[in-house]
Amino acid sequence: MKAEVVCSCDTCGDGIALPLDGTPAETTCGCCGDGVRLGFPDALGRRTRCAICGCPALYVQRDFNRAVGIGIVVVGAVLAPFTHYVSLGVATLADLALYQLLPRITVCYACEAIHRGVPVHSEHGAFDHHIEDRFKVEKSKRQMAIQNWRRARSSR
Ligand SMILES: [Zn+2]
Ligand SMILES: [Zn+2]
Repeated sequence: MKAEVVCSCDTCGDGIALPLDGTPAETTCGCCGDGVRLGFPDALGRRTRCAICGCPALYVQRDFNRAVGIGIVVVGAVLAPFTHYVSLGVATLADLALYQLLPRITVCYACEAIHRGVPVHSEHGAFDHHIEDRFKVEKSKRQMAIQNWRRARSSR
């Protein structure tokens, strides 16, 4: 798997993928044309920081496609009355097996950038709501500041 980081555009929120091959990368958002720069190109190779914002608070999760997972369970549930509910158990097991096979991704608490195809560091644990809450407060403060700044600029 190719190492890449997927972040969202600061301006319009669209998803942008940047390669993580150790070279400084720059790209423009396909949606609004704003420039996006990889702040810390080799961050997850040697250090353990977010490649976009440099934040050290990261968590690890499976690269799980929720729609596929739910789809399997729905099929199992629909077939359940005809299979004496065996299909429901099979679907649940299939979901679990799929989950174990999925690659792990490292996600940034601060900017929610997703790092794919990079080694998972042992110091990054699973998602923690307490840490996320702390960053949520920070994030809303930052968004407020951006909004105020935009309002001040447009009223001038
Ligand atoms: Zn954009
Ligand atoms: Zn980040």
